[in-house]
Amino acid sequence: MSNAQNYKFAGKTAFITGAGSGIGRATAFAFADAGANVAVVDINPTAAAETVKRIEESGGKATSIACDVTNSDQVKAAVDRCVQAFGALNFAFNNAGIEQGVVPLTEVSEELFDRLFAINVKGVYLCMKHQIPVMDKSGGGVIVNTASTAGVLSIRNQGSYCATKYAVVALTKSTALEVAGAKIRINALCPGITDTPMIERVSGGTEEGRTRLIGQEPVGRFARPEEMARATMWLCSDDGAFITGAALNIDGGQSAGIG
Ligand code: NAD
Repeated sequence: MSNAQNYKFAGKTAFITGAGSGIGRATAFAFADAGANVAVVDINPTAAAETVKRIEESGGKATSIACDVTNSDQVKAAVDRCVQAFGALNFAFNNAGIEQGVVPLTEVSEELFDRLFAINVKGVYLCMKHQIPVMDKSGGGVIVNTASTAGVLSIRNQGSYCATKYAVVALTKSTALEVAGAKIRINALCPGITDTPMIERVSGGTEEGRTRLIGQEPVGRFARPEEMARATMWLCSDDGAFITGAALNIDGGQSAGIG
């Protein structure tokens, strides 16, 4: 599935939200390939079950957990189930998120605005709120929250989505300061345009739509979800031991400037 041989996470447990699709699924595969037990968390139980099935077919260990990250009780239950299943919570990738269409702010409904904040921001807050005490009790851990290039760079016709991702970066940095002394590291991953079902929807799934989006990437291509998985594993590994409170751009130069 992925080229994860140089990460050794045997005996470790990773909790991954949005693991039924795209970046989350690729990261679940990568952690499993590296030997970790994976809690595959998603609002879509069928998609989560498919991720688990594919991990098990490759000899990995995973369990699917249906959970809406906007619901505190469900998030707490998901974290508890992960610990019950695997005895630990070493890594958390709080990655579930939704997009908005490419439209000006005046065309974003209040309902969508609220939903964007509920999933993209409150979901990350709730995950960290329930993960930190567990990690603290067991002597530490690593959290990676998925922000976006849209969390470090303003994008026309993406104002509401950008606002959620700037918020993820702020939550990440502030919380990292709070728990640095407890051996818990927290970083934000800021992906550029990554070839997932989300981008299929944003591009409209047409060649013209994809070409328009690729035009926003200085390197002239989309990222592969596996590239986000590897960056996340690096942040979680001991190679990332001195990295906390960072927002890591993995974006083909998209956030570097105009040119
Ligand atoms: P995706 O749509 O392929 O996958 C998102 C997953 O999140 C789905 O499986 C979905 O069921 C799940 N999900 C949605 N709402 C949920 C909820 N309330 N509770 C639990 N799970 C929920 O998207 P993706 O491209 O893999 O995006 C993953 C993350 O990366 C998102 O936070 C997104 O904003 C971010 N991101 C994506 C890109 C990109 O270009 N694809 C770029 C930057 C950031």
